[in-house]
Order: sequence, then structure tokens, then C-alpha cells
Amino acid sequence: MSIKRPLIGISPWYDEEKRLTYIKGGYCEGIIKAGGIPVVLPLTGDEEILQDIYEKIDGILLSGGDDVDAVHFGEWNLPCNGEISPYRDRMELFLARKVLEEGKPVLGICRGVQMMNVAIGGSLYQDIYSQIRDRCLLQHSQKAPRWYPTHEVVVKSGSKVWKAHGKESVRVNSFHHQAIKDVADGFEITASSPDGMIEAIEFRNHPFAVGVQWHPELMWEKDQSFLELFKDFIENCGK
Ligand code: MN
Repeated sequence: MSIKRPLIGISPWYDEEKRLTYIKGGYCEGIIKAGGIPVVLPLTGDEEILQDIYEKIDGILLSGGDDVDAVHFGEWNLPCNGEISPYRDRMELFLARKVLEEGKPVLGICRGVQMMNVAIGGSLYQDIYSQIRDRCLLQHSQKAPRWYPTHEVVVKSGSKVWKAHGKESVRVNSFHHQAIKDVADGFEITASSPDGMIEAIEFRNHPFAVGVQWHPELMWEKDQSFLELFKDFIENCGK
């Protein structure tokens, strides 16, 4: 008997200079392990093509990556903003809006959670270390191995992240210098770090729209509980 595995579109990285579209390790493997079929999407800003792609896939994983052009949340790009990928921005904003509006499952990781927030009117810190001065921040660009958890997040009881881990305190890895500033309407914050950084959001009244600032795709091999979010995502994509 063959099982119908949901098809999961993954937004890719893009190396502008080499014209190279690619995806880093852990994402595809995690989706396969959780019961889905990953397909790395071609990079295009053509909305007709994106619409066709959208209709053919059962869910979207917005992957990690470079910084978001601040113009998308109504700011100038400051010196502290990093590399920008215009095609990626355009493609992911289109897809993120669609999945949130139409209820198709979406999992956003790192840049992915930021795109979900920006897509419907939220904003970001272009660089948390230059822009947050009123308190001491944790190390969010960790120097430990990539699979190793270096800071705590406090998880909202009853949320999807909480369901995945089954507890309110989870230690996660961290590779970001940007973070969510103003949360877009419709999202609720479901995990924060002790320094007050937003580390996970979930869209209300949606079967599965979860974004996390950490990288579960680099952790699940060492700690199975990080695969649970992938499994819940895939399960919803199969419905
Ligand atoms: Mn962090």
C-alpha cells in the first residue's frame, strides 16, 4: 500500500553572484523523516507561476536565509541590515500572504518567521544589537555547534510549539541578528527568550501557521523532540 505523502514546497537560498539556487541541510531530510516529500522551489517573482506552484503544493516551508529588505516594513535600510535577496523577498512575501489568507499549512524557520510577520504588516529589528539598547541581550548568533541549544525560550502553554515539546521551557539554538519587532495582527507570540526577544509566533484561526526563530532542522537529529513540529506540520498538510 502506498501512502500519499504531502508535497512541501521549500523556499530556496539564492546566490546572486553565482546564480545558484540551493537549500541547506536538515530541511529536506526533516520533511522526509516527518512523512512529507520536499520540493525545493525555483526562485521566481512571476506571480502567475507562483500561483500555479501554490496550487500544486500541500504546504510551504519558508527556510532560513539572508536579511529582509527593510522597505517591506516601511523603513530605510540601515547600515546594520545585512545582505538582501530581492527575488527571494518577492517570492516569499507572495507565498506567505497566500498561505496565511487561504489557510494552507506553513512552517517558517528563522528568516521564514520574519517573512510571515512582514508579509501581513509586521516589522523587524534590522539588527537587534544596534537597535535594542535598553537591556542586555543574549547571544543570538551562537558560537557553539549548530545543533547545540544555547538559550532558553518560554513557550505558551497550549500552543503548537508547546504541543511539539510538551513543556514550557525549551532550550534552542540561535543564529539571528534580526528579530520580530511589531507582531502583525492575527499572530500570537508563542515563545520568547528571557531577554524579551520574540522567538515563535502562530497565526490564529489557521490550521497550521507556525514560525520559529530557532533552527529545528539542525537539531532534530540530536533531539527527536525537534522533529515533532515537522510532524505536526506534515500531518496538517495531509488533511
Ligand atoms: Mn534566539
